[in-house]
Amino acid sequence: MHQKQSEEQEVIKAKSEEANFEHPSFKFIPNGHHEWKQQGYYLVCKSCELEHAIWIGRKHLIVGIKENGQPIIKSRKELGFL
Ligand SMILES: [Zn+2]
Repeated sequence: MHQKQSEEQEVIKAKSEEANFEHPSFKFIPNGHHEWKQQGYYLVCKSCELEHAIWIGRKHLIVGIKENGQPIIKSRKELGFL
């Protein structure tokens, strides 16, 4: 009984890790204005003194920048590329 329960918990844990990989968390985007450029699977900020980048993966594309400087990211599926 206990064994099964912990197995289920493991599955849930694995699934949530998978979800994070497929849908990168946007909370890592620093506040402030950034000029994002897509380079391969990354969004690279070109405006900060210290260059920094966000992994968006091969399934997402940057389509624009919001007024608050946050990138607008769409999945290729949403854009009809897949
Ligand atoms: Zn920046």
